[in-house]
Amino acid sequence: MFEQNLLNTFNKLETPFYYYDLNLLKNTLNQIIKAAPTKYKIHYALKANNNKTILSTIKETGFGADCVSGNEIKRAIEVGFKTQDIVFAGVGKSDKEINFALDNNIFCFNVESIHELQVINELASIKNKIACIALRINPNVDAFTHKYITTGLEENKFGINPYELDAFLEEIKKYKNIDLIGLHFHIGSQIEDLNPFKNLCLRVNEINKWFISKGYLLPHINLGGGLGINYQEPDKEAIVDFKAYFDVFQNYLELLPLQQIHFELGRCIVAQCGSLISRVLYIKNGTNTNFAILDAGMTELIRPALYQAYHKIENLTAISLERKQQSIYDIVGPICESSDCFGKAVIFPETFRGDIIAIRSAGAYGKVMSNRYNLRDEIKELTA
Ligand SMILES: *Cc1c(COP(=O)(O)O)cnc(C)c1O
Repeated sequence: MFEQNLLNTFNKLETPFYYYDLNLLKNTLNQIIKAAPTKYKIHYALKANNNKTILSTIKETGFGADCVSGNEIKRAIEVGFKTQDIVFAGVGKSDKEINFALDNNIFCFNVESIHELQVINELASIKNKIACIALRINPNVDAFTHKYITTGLEENKFGINPYELDAFLEEIKKYKNIDLIGLHFHIGSQIEDLNPFKNLCLRVNEINKWFISKGYLLPHINLGGGLGINYQEPDKEAIVDFKAYFDVFQNYLELLPLQQIHFELGRCIVAQCGSLISRVLYIKNGTNTNFAILDAGMTELIRPALYQAYHKIENLTAISLERKQQSIYDIVGPICESSDCFGKAVIFPETFRGDIIAIRSAGAYGKVMSNRYNLRDEIKELTA
């Protein structure tokens, strides 16, 4: 929902740009703090949105950071996250990135293969350091989400399969510069049904027991992120039901009291506070549909083209003028690709050149995935 004042501001600005509602972000963070048991440590997944104002706001809550590149670690440190609160994940960490993380004494590397373990050990030994690591294990839980954002199945490139764990423990014994402190899991993204998280808990219980039976009582259990948001009705459910989410873990996870529980939340923290604001450039009448051609496209928000993702589209000008007439539009961008389409056959108020359009729920995996294909301007961001 956008106030008239805000629309007046949008009208004066050059489009397109991302708009972030900091109040909604703060309310979301407060809800998480209220819902999460104090013993849960939340790390914000920077890859969802690395805007510095957003990061500072999140850092203020005392959350840690979940990074997937050396530059994300650098950004997290720049905005003031404590290095001891930083976890570093990813299947392909480069030597440079590992060295940077070692130099900054981050909390933990989430390790995804035996080969990576060898390399981290080698690089840590050169620096005479001990790298703390958690093993990222594939729990083989289906997240029932889009195949491009499912990560917890055996055939994914991510993580270590349970049948490899014996070999892993044998390897780890050889490495003097590695300290195994935890287990890490992340089953996918945009998971709306809570059942996969329940299944994750049950698998984690088994795997944790297996480790204990092998003599490893690991102090840190990281359950990753992936909680989905409501893309259909962003105003009805602006903040996810965090209590229901954490209750699943409260009810089904059977860890020992000294085992600390970690989460890595990205999308569900920042998605709803962001909108891509754009102007209508042209209306073109096709044979079966009208095209509303925007000044924003897949270069600014690639999710529809990449994952067939749905984003609610609103004509803010038409809403404010209470235009009643409706028509059917394909709402498309200016890029030379047919997949550059935000909405097909959308029932939309009558739309004109110059109307301000908001593409909602774009605070996560929006700006961070933007690119400059066609040599387009870098997309700007407005926080208010
Ligand atoms: C992407 C990612 C997250 C965050 O996922 P969301 O769906 O945005 O919550 C957490 N952990 C890891 C390892 C990731 O790759």
